[in-house]
Amino acid sequence: MPSRPSLFIVHITPELATVAKVGGLADVVFGLSRELAIRGNHVEIILPKYATLRLDHIFELHVVYQDLWVPWYDGAIHCTVFFGFVHGRKCFFIEPHSHDNFFNRGSIYGFRDDVMRYAFFSRAAMEFLWKAGKHPDVIHVHDWQTALVPVFLYEFYQPLGMTHPRVCLTIHNFAHQGVTGVEVLQATGLQRPERFFDGARLGDNKYPKALNLLKGGIVYSNFVTTVSPRYAFETKDQGQGFGLEPTLHLHHAKYGGVVNGIDYDVWNPEIDHQIPVRYGVDSIEGKYDNKRALRHRLMLADNEKPIVAFIGRLDPQKGLELVRHAIFYTLERGAQFVLLGSSPDDGINADFWNLKHMLNDSPDCHLEIGFDEDLSHLIYAGADMMLVPSRFEPCGLTQLIALRYGTIPVVREVGGLADTIIDKDYSHRPLHERNGYVFRDFDNAGLESALERAIACYRNHPDHFRELMKNAMRSDFSWNQPGQDYLNIYDYIREG
Ligand code: ADP
Repeated sequence: MPSRPSLFIVHITPELATVAKVGGLADVVFGLSRELAIRGNHVEIILPKYATLRLDHIFELHVVYQDLWVPWYDGAIHCTVFFGFVHGRKCFFIEPHSHDNFFNRGSIYGFRDDVMRYAFFSRAAMEFLWKAGKHPDVIHVHDWQTALVPVFLYEFYQPLGMTHPRVCLTIHNFAHQGVTGVEVLQATGLQRPERFFDGARLGDNKYPKALNLLKGGIVYSNFVTTVSPRYAFETKDQGQGFGLEPTLHLHHAKYGGVVNGIDYDVWNPEIDHQIPVRYGVDSIEGKYDNKRALRHRLMLADNEKPIVAFIGRLDPQKGLELVRHAIFYTLERGAQFVLLGSSPDDGINADFWNLKHMLNDSPDCHLEIGFDEDLSHLIYAGADMMLVPSRFEPCGLTQLIALRYGTIPVVREVGGLADTIIDKDYSHRPLHERNGYVFRDFDNAGLESALERAIACYRNHPDHFRELMKNAMRSDFSWNQPGQDYLNIYDYIREG
């Protein structure tokens, strides 16, 4: 293999596991940054210095830059920049000192001024690169929160002489775009509103009087990715782009999908210390000790039934009406059901609490409403099937983790689920590549068509089911391939 030059790559991101995590974006930056570093590249990460940072996961945290002044409205905000290692990753944390208190709050998101908070962070990160004399080969930004970075690069910093960096934007979910008004231009110094309200730049496709930060990111970046090829297609051509379809069409030549990897140091039944018995593809029996432990912990009956599980945010995106139907259908089909999930929405939580009370007496069902990473490991290890009936799913991590634990995914054919799960019965792919059950229609009949086949195979053809488990456990969704894909994209935009 020809050796490639080492690149200087900077991720500017609102989230990073394990110090500032809300969703999958945090895991992606964590996993991808390590893969890029292992391949000999110099990788740095820039984050806000949130009050909620897990400081116990940051090593050698210290101030590296005292006097960063970031232009804001007619003046500038003074910032301090810290440096520290997050599990070996080199991270810079920007702390602004102003009465806005942008990051000194109780949570990462959920504030009325979120757009202004991240517009400031994006400007501050670029000002830091410029003042510190850093000229990365590639700046990789994530979601609407940092989509203004390429706008600032090409509008402010390139004319000043920062001509080297190219920008890659990864969109983890199109549902959030940072739609806002003129004040963001006034605050960040983007003069001439008519230039930026233009539909060819940041002007929103639906509301002509609004600016759309994610759209600006698409227009100004050198390359745009989303987290699976199928989701790239659905957002551009199947009406799943939340209004950005025409923008994606216009920029289709620089748009593509890369399936996320998962971290096999964390999600691997052979070394997982959060499960009672470790096992691998050659010692699958160990899985059934975990099944017993799961039943014991959740007080389920110990019988010959398969366990169907659901783990996820209780968000309408995840197909909650199908989850609800699946609980009753599973019990009726003589199987057990385990759910682990929570929602920031009190109404949704209350619905699931009602369901839990309704099913309280069943020895075959347990609903755990809350967030519990520890328990999630035991469920991945102890369940037989993992249900993911999403309405839309940019990539999805639960099905990838389930595969590694030999827990057979039963998924809707959408987004990253369609790219990663191959139906056991209805596929043209070779038998050894088939790793789950897939259904197409978002309705009860669709769900039943896949779940019924999974339960019947478990019960009537245990040898086939075991082969499927082995296929699942052998699937490779490490960061190896996506790491290579991103490096190819970086090379492409550097040459372009
Ligand atoms: P999304 O990013 O849309 O929430 P993903 O499938 O990409 O969905 O990632 C979900 C991740 O969060 C998985 O690692 C899953 O195990 C974890 N998770 C979701 N809900 C819970 C919960 N209630 N308790 C523990 N882990 C959870």
